[in-house]
Amino acid sequence: MSYKTLSKEELIKLEEKFEKQYISFKDKNLKLDMSRGKPGPDQLDLCMGMLDVFNSKSILNSEDGFDCRNYGCLEGIREARELMSGILDSSPDEVIIYGNSSLNIMYDTVSRSYTHGIFGMTPWKDLKEVKFICIVPGYDRHFSILRHFGIGYVNVPMLKDGPDMDMIEKLVAEDESIKGMWCVPKYSNPDGTIYSDKTVKRMAALKPRAKDFRIYWDNAYGVHNLYDDYEELTDILRECSKAGNPDMVYKFASTSKISFTGGGLAAMAASKKNIEEIKKQLFFQTIGHDKMNQLRHTRFFKDIEGIRAHMKKHALILRPKFEMVTATFEKELSGTDTASWTKPRGGYFISLNTMEGCAKEVVAYCKDAGVVLTPAGATFPDGIDPEDSNIRIAPSYPGIDELKAASELLCLCIKLVSVRKLIKNCK
Ligand code: PMP
Repeated sequence: MSYKTLSKEELIKLEEKFEKQYISFKDKNLKLDMSRGKPGPDQLDLCMGMLDVFNSKSILNSEDGFDCRNYGCLEGIREARELMSGILDSSPDEVIIYGNSSLNIMYDTVSRSYTHGIFGMTPWKDLKEVKFICIVPGYDRHFSILRHFGIGYVNVPMLKDGPDMDMIEKLVAEDESIKGMWCVPKYSNPDGTIYSDKTVKRMAALKPRAKDFRIYWDNAYGVHNLYDDYEELTDILRECSKAGNPDMVYKFASTSKISFTGGGLAAMAASKKNIEEIKKQLFFQTIGHDKMNQLRHTRFFKDIEGIRAHMKKHALILRPKFEMVTATFEKELSGTDTASWTKPRGGYFISLNTMEGCAKEVVAYCKDAGVVLTPAGATFPDGIDPEDSNIRIAPSYPGIDELKAASELLCLCIKLVSVRKLIKNCK
């Protein structure tokens, strides 16, 4: 029954019912957090064997004989580059291994362009205006990097098969101040969208006015499938090369949500020319990253097939949680016309859209009853969702029973806030 077709009297009756239910929820004194995409402890337990791959008696040389206990090997040991090349869908020669965080690499990449410029071009700090395309809704920390450097943004909406490419083609062709674009191409944060082959090819063939324009391809969820029948992502680097734009993309990934979130491996891939330039600057930052961790990862996972097998174990834990949340939405909200939501096939998030102008209030109601959600607006630059509608749900951390209680409360808050809004709108 669509709430939008109800009379004021009918809505008031519903409001009274939902209010009573809300008060009894409050009495349960819930204390749950669905705000950040963190793996649960049972997921982290899957990797404890990594701590046993070597001990004080082990020989800690890389396959080509490099002593991993010592300084050096700026780009990372060969086998780690091979391992990460599987996730990044690139050749090992196009890969550099960093520390534990891909966000750190992204920050660094923007920072280098800001202070030193790309391929001898003007550093962004010396330009009057620098902007990025932000695909919305998107990842809050991408947007925070821009804010930190005073970089502006242009929002472009996410469609079913990736961002609105008509808009992007026009923007980059016309505006020289647009220097970059954040993308989470597989199981995007938060919509769970996979960029179609057509979208990737159009992106690779962009004709940006700015010669230092780059696509920041954050493939954070490249192997995070919830189901065995998953869609493959077309490789952007190869497509860029075919389209005559070999240097236009930087790819990022990490094992944060594969091994340990607090102690994974992060890497980037790009054309050899980009990699050479980055290594020259990286030289001033470090003599080499943590090669013992690189060795631990490669000895534990062995290769990309090892990672894929490991991710199936994660899926067994995560799938019931995602399905629990979407089934609750279906049961409680379906037909009410108060919200829509995604049913992702991978990644870490469910994206929920309330009626316009309701998201902030829904999040506040949930908080009052003990359930913390990602702040409404966080999925937009500067925290401003023009429609106040999007809420990012992160179902990975809570246990399944807690998740059930939290999703039921969320649905109740959506119904209560929506009904109140509709009553207000009645003449
Ligand atoms: N990119 C995206 C899209 C993410 O969702 C996250 C984690 N929430 C990260 C990057 C952070 O990755 P890392 O732990 O490698 O810094």
